[in-house]
Amino acid sequence: MKKNKIIVIGGGYAGLRSVERLSKNPQNEILLFDKNPYHFMQTDVYDLIANEEDFAQVSVDLFTFCSGFDNNVTFLKQKVSNVDFTHKKVITTVQRYSYDYLIIAVGARTKLIADVKGLSTYAHGIKSLSHAMYFKQKFEMSLFNRVQESGASCSALNIVIAGAGLSGVEIAAQMASYSREFYNNNNFICRKLNIVLINSGKHVLEGLDKVLVDKTDKRLRELGIVIKSQRKVVEVTANSVKLSCGEIMDMDFMIYAGGIEPSSLINNLLMEKNQKGYIVSNEYLQVKGYDEVFAIGDCTTIYNKDKVVAPTADTAEQMAEICSKNIRNLINNQPLIKHKIKSRGILIALGRGYAVSKIFGIYLDGYFAYIMKKLVERVYARKLDIRSRKGCKKIFCN
Ligand SMILES: Cc1cc2nc3c(=O)[nH]c(=O)nc-3n(C[C@H](O)[C@H](O)[C@H](O)COP(=O)(O)OP(=O)(O)OC[C@H]3O[C@@H](n4cnc5c(N)ncnc54)[C@H](O)[C@@H]3O)c2cc1C
Repeated sequence: MKKNKIIVIGGGYAGLRSVERLSKNPQNEILLFDKNPYHFMQTDVYDLIANEEDFAQVSVDLFTFCSGFDNNVTFLKQKVSNVDFTHKKVITTVQRYSYDYLIIAVGARTKLIADVKGLSTYAHGIKSLSHAMYFKQKFEMSLFNRVQESGASCSALNIVIAGAGLSGVEIAAQMASYSREFYNNNNFICRKLNIVLINSGKHVLEGLDKVLVDKTDKRLRELGIVIKSQRKVVEVTANSVKLSCGEIMDMDFMIYAGGIEPSSLINNLLMEKNQKGYIVSNEYLQVKGYDEVFAIGDCTTIYNKDKVVAPTADTAEQMAEICSKNIRNLINNQPLIKHKIKSRGILIALGRGYAVSKIFGIYLDGYFAYIMKKLVERVYARKLDIRSRKGCKKIFCN
């Protein structure tokens, strides 16, 4: 019987969920490509930067993960540079690979605005594990350097976070909460840590509902974080940040969480994209003009009742479920399913032991919400870990 050759580009939240679902059919022969050898759990990055977790706890090895399936999934660590849609070939830096069905799940990257002088030199995004690791080490080293200076006269550590969306507020809160505990537990006399959150909107978490915004704002201020709203970063140097209001702030290091754009591969693809460069897909998540090609996760923009569906890990996984069903239906000549994807909830970690959430319309805050957030993260990581352990045993026992 003929095998169905399925290529998945991107081992992120969307890509891995599709691999899981499609692997259930033994007739499917799946090839997963990623430019990195690991899956990076971006949703846990706030814990990594604040030294609560190490890099092994926020990543999953894609070789062992893919080896955990029953021989119909192969992982290739190769960067995809283009796709020849006419001849159904994926082009990597190594060679060309044929497909019957293709899933594009390459996610998004930090958009460092070119007009802002010094931004791309002195600020970094946190959407890649290597950058997140850099900040983690820089943060700990900066705390150590202050302690090394010793005495109450030590200089202040100034951390600037630009962007008060989900990732910006989580990182700011976790750093503030971690350093507070660090100082308290270790009785150091030097305690001068300034965390400033720059926000171009009127409020933090612009666009989210008011209850979440108010609770988050209150918590951030309780943690001693300074929020500067309705201001933009206009210039960055090695040790300062200039804002649109003219203010110049001291800066030891800066995290940029101010916006995202589709991954670079999307620029090269000859297909319809929207004004922001995201792939245009239809209600079945197929790419316009190519029925056998699907785009899922952060690299595409989808709508539900004319409203943009927020790009999150949750919606990326829902897209993967629909896309996998639709590939199955295409194979079996059955009608395709229209997506009705919407966010199922939101959980925002705001320092150790505290989160705010809205799940299925119910608001929670405090320790219980934090436990829920941790539970969601653990369940996700555990499933991948079980698969990866199985693969590891197979590789090292054979
Ligand atoms: C700090 C932070 C906190 C977040 N918190 C939450 C949260 O609490 N809840 C939530 O739901 N969402 C959260 N998100 C958003 C969530 O992480 C993203 O929506 C999610 O990662 C999107 O999944 P994806 O599969 O589309 O892309 P990704 O997970 O980004 O995966 C894309 C994959 O494609 C690979 N790739 C890219 N280009 C190529 C190429 N050319 N060739 C081969 N491989 C390639 C990448 O290496 C990567 O592995 C957070 C994001 C950040 C940055």
